[in-house]
Amino acid sequence: MSFDLTTDQLDLRARARDLASTLVADNAAEVDRTEQYPWDNVKALTDAGFMGMTVPKELGGPGRSFLEANLVVEEMASYCGPTGRIVVEGNMGAISAIIHYGTKSQQRLAADLVLAGDKPAICITEPDAGSAASLMTTRADKRGDGYIVNGKKHWITGGGVSRLHLIFARVFDEDGSELGIGGFLAIRGEAKGLRIGPREPTMGLRGIPETEVIFEDLEIPADMVLMPPSGFKRGFADLMNAYNSQRVGAGTVALGLAAGAYRNALAFAKQREQFGRPIAEFQGLQWMLADMSVQLEAARALLHKAALSAGHNGSPFPDATLAAQGKIFTSEMALKVTTDALQVFGARGYSRNYPMERLARDARMFTIGGGTAQILRTVVASRILEQKLPQTRDGFSHLAAQAERDARLEAAE
Ligand SMILES: Cc1cc2nc3c(=O)[nH]c(=O)nc-3n(C[C@H](O)[C@H](O)[C@H](O)COP(=O)(O)OP(=O)(O)OC[C@H]3O[C@@H](n4cnc5c(N)ncnc54)[C@H](O)[C@@H]3O)c2cc1C
Repeated sequence: MSFDLTTDQLDLRARARDLASTLVADNAAEVDRTEQYPWDNVKALTDAGFMGMTVPKELGGPGRSFLEANLVVEEMASYCGPTGRIVVEGNMGAISAIIHYGTKSQQRLAADLVLAGDKPAICITEPDAGSAASLMTTRADKRGDGYIVNGKKHWITGGGVSRLHLIFARVFDEDGSELGIGGFLAIRGEAKGLRIGPREPTMGLRGIPETEVIFEDLEIPADMVLMPPSGFKRGFADLMNAYNSQRVGAGTVALGLAAGAYRNALAFAKQREQFGRPIAEFQGLQWMLADMSVQLEAARALLHKAALSAGHNGSPFPDATLAAQGKIFTSEMALKVTTDALQVFGARGYSRNYPMERLARDARMFTIGGGTAQILRTVVASRILEQKLPQTRDGFSHLAAQAERDARLEAAE
């Protein structure tokens, strides 16, 4: 596995840096202040070919790798966290699941949408099923060839701006028997029964709405069912495997935010003078800056390794252990680096006239969203110990399995 970037990848990164350091940088504070989705940035990303980069050539995309998409993510996030996240979801997560698991018509539909600038929404979390995502209660009941979906998701990134939605739901046959968890595709504005609920007032990353998404007898025709390769029974595992691409992407946004904070701190330390000399001449700050650079290099190497693992070990997605390790390390690193970089600015770091407080607020999210740092440690532990580590008291990960067991026990009494 080589970490050397090719000439083409260096050119790609340079093109991304040009856009990030001009339009995206100029809009960043305003996007945060107004809490408006950055449609201008989305248009520029789309025109530059940064949306749908991972879409294969036969579907009209450039067929780039996760690593290449992440090079662009880091550059965008180093100036504007929300724009970095848009590039993640325009290249990873839902779109990757559809490209690898979808039918030809689903692939084409999703490819056309992201290549035109749509950032798909992925709907997993519910008010009572966060870390315990497999205990979701949103249900899809078979009716004829299709399904009727009912339930409520919350904290859905892009609620009200995304068109394509990938909805995770518990699947039931016509006779009411549970089949597992499946993925269902719906397009906002076309699908009847998909309603956007209230928006969360968030601490950071304010340029992207986080909303409830509500399904009220949402009709999903048969051709919009995203069938996981091993069927509904192991559907959750398959869908979460695809989600490993998004975990690497989320880690890369955290990396970009930290890299942006470090870049600002380095420049400020050289220019700001106290005691008649630049503050960069004080060893206390030199060591802080040195520590930041160490953390950034380590995080980048881990994430690149995770991105490059896609396509190995029989999976088109990044390895689950590496993706979790990368997100844990980078999300926690970004908290430290953005806070230390803010410290280098003194009082100015605490002012909303400078980007440091925004970068620190934006970075705070990544130990939470997309699998908390605690849950991802359980993922890593289960892989290195080579055993399942169910978190429910009785070891069941499905409510239906629990209910079945309870009924059996009751009948036996
Ligand atoms: C900005 C943002 C964007 C998001 N975007 C999306 C999205 O687009 N789509 C989507 O589906 N979801 C999204 N989420 C939801 C996110 O994935 C969940 O918030 C996350 O999975 C945690 O769930 P929770 O918030 O309900 O916390 P809880 O599960 O209630 O956890 C609370 C605390 O308990 C800890 N905890 C829980 N169980 C265990 C355990 N077994 N061992 C140790 N610690 C444990 C957690 O680590 C956490 O610290 C987003 C969240 C945020 C903040």
